[in-house]
Parts: sequence; structure tokens; C-alpha cells
Amino acid sequence: MSIEENLLRIKSTIPANVSLIAVSKTHPADVVMEAYNAGQRVFGENKVQELVGKASEMPDDIEWHMIGHLQSNKVKYIAPFVSLIHGVDSFKLLKVIDKEAAKNNRIIPCLLQVHIASEETKFGFSPEELKLALQTGEHHQYKNVDIRGLMGMATFTEDESVIRSEFKMLKLLFNELKDSYFKDAVSFREVSMGMSDDYQIAIEEGTTMVRVGSAIFGLRHYT
Ligand SMILES: *Cc1c(COP(=O)(O)O)cnc(C)c1O
Repeated sequence: MSIEENLLRIKSTIPANVSLIAVSKTHPADVVMEAYNAGQRVFGENKVQELVGKASEMPDDIEWHMIGHLQSNKVKYIAPFVSLIHGVDSFKLLKVIDKEAAKNNRIIPCLLQVHIASEETKFGFSPEELKLALQTGEHHQYKNVDIRGLMGMATFTEDESVIRSEFKMLKLLFNELKDSYFKDAVSFREVSMGMSDDYQIAIEEGTTMVRVGSAIFGLRHYT
């Protein structure tokens, strides 16, 4: 199957109200262009250097999403152009994004990453930590970030019931926060969950964004 065929097949299974982020990490720009030429305009990368490189090589009408762990000292490289930062896992990082966004006269859309998996290694706020952080109201002072919603990654497992319950939990948390801390924030409306192996479950559980890599571009070869 070609990249174009993969993309069209996946798009046909995604409802119109769910956006598809094509995760292009590790694939060179000429390969990623096949998806662009098939109509895809939203791409996700998980490393700053790779993101900046591809953004400079590829057309300007692409929306670039940073989906990986972001270090504070690297925010400045993506602040001029990034469309959405999915992995905001501390208010310290949010503060840096706000500062760099202001320098660029921008408001940068962000998602707060929540740790929903059972693995220790995945980044993100625990649901309790996130509520405590929001309770402080600190985020209200950051005028150059726009908190659009939540992002999460399920446990790496074949057990669908585990994945489903983690996605359910994230969606419930989203609804709870929406009704409390983001009542008047119309832009707080996104949930980013679901990857190649579990995006269909995520759609059933009410995601608004899926991040799909290998199902479009094939397996990644790490060197
Ligand atoms: C790599 C990656 C994806 C896509 O993974 P696939 O299994 O290839 O679809 C999605 N989200 C994040 C955060 C990733 O790092």
C-alpha cells in the first residue's frame, strides 16, 4: 500500500469532527511530501530539531504539531510557527511557552498532557496534580497560550479493555475540567488520544484528534 492509499483509507474511517495528525517522525521530507500531495496538511513530530528541519523544507501551508516531550530550553525554536503543542506537562513549561509566544507576538495553542497509562515512563500530569495546578489559577496569567484541551497516551498493551478504560478516563477528566476550570473557555474543546493501533477505540471514546504515524507511513527505522 502506498502512503496515499493508507492515508485515504484511514481518513475514510475517521468522522469529520475528528482531526487526523499525520505523525511523520523519522521519515524524511520527500516521503512526508507524499502525504502532503495526497491532501494532508497537519503533521506531528516529536523532536524539536526534526520538526524545525522539516518545517523549513516543506510547504508553508502545513500545520505543525509538536507531539513529544518538550524541554523548556527548546521552546524558542518552534515558538515562531508551531500550531499546537500537545505535551505540556508542567506549568513551568507553560510559562516558558507563554514567554516565547509573546516574543513572537503569537498566542500558541497547547494541550495539557495527562498520564493515563499504567507505565511509569510516560510523561504528563496525574489527574490529581492537574486539578491542583488548575486550582491555583496560575494559568490565567499566561495570556499568550491558549489551553485547548487534554492529551494522553494509553498503556502499550494488546488488551483493548485497558486502553478503552484509559481513554474513557481521559474523556471524563476533560468533561469534568470543562465544567469547572474551563467553563467560559470556548477554545477548551480538544482531546488528543489514539495512535495507529488504537485510534478507532479513541474515536469510540470521544476523541477529537488522533495522532497516526506507522499506519500511514509504515514502520519506523530508528538509526
Ligand atoms: C509516535 C507517536 C505517535 C504515532 O504512533 P504510531 O503508533 O506510529 O501511530 C502518536 N503520538 C505520539 C506522542 C508519538 O510519539
